Amino acid sequence: MRVTSHGRLHQLAFFPRIFPVNCYLVEEEDNLTLVDTGLSYSCRFILGAAKKRNKPIKRIVITHAHSDHVASLDHLAKALPNASIYLPRRELKLLHGDRTLLPTEPQAPVKGGFITKIRTRPDYLLKEGDYVGSLRVIPLPGHTPGMIGLFDERDRTLIASDAFQTQGGVYAAGDTCWRFPFPSFATWHLPTSLDSARKAAALEPELLAVGHGRLLHRPGEAMKKAVQRLEKKASLRLEEF
Ligand SMILES: [Zn+2]
Repeated sequence: MRVTSHGRLHQLAFFPRIFPVNCYLVEEEDNLTLVDTGLSYSCRFILGAAKKRNKPIKRIVITHAHSDHVASLDHLAKALPNASIYLPRRELKLLHGDRTLLPTEPQAPVKGGFITKIRTRPDYLLKEGDYVGSLRVIPLPGHTPGMIGLFDERDRTLIASDAFQTQGGVYAAGDTCWRFPFPSFATWHLPTSLDSARKAAALEPELLAVGHGRLLHRPGEAMKKAVQRLEKKASLRLEEF
């Protein structure tokens, strides 16, 4: 595991070179928020990283239901009985193996790998505008139907989850980076993802933190270019029909 720190944010990267999977510890005054829980073996590494910061993990928040973001949720919830669990409301069905879509959603099949045996019960179900510690909940659907990002208003850090990747270059979800195409293969609905990418870029973050790839400082220009590339792809798709 590689740890990269910037201000209040600590990126914990598993398999950083071959198949980077990130989760994050965000510092509050006297405790930590854990964003995503990584792979099935990640639990003890996450607990070790928190211990080094000398602060307890008080909140665990999941950005979306894909297995590489939730695999050690049950282990961590058990190891941290005092931590509150925050889940995006729409992702709850997916966390229980139900891939059916709501009548109001685009009827495209949900993609990617899910664990269907998550037992942890949430303490809070998140919607737009809620806060997890200092982090504001920003719905960023498209990669999955209910994915969220988290925006730290103290220093304009955006944890965008898989709405963007920085591995292999800066790409918005749904655009295929052939050096690391997996987030794109697991993306549900391109036009919805494009709207979310625009919304994330409009926040004008100072630091971009993603599910796959390194932290990116002053990401404005790169995010704008990634949005433009996805717009092109979306318009080509429309011409196909
Ligand atoms: Zn994902």
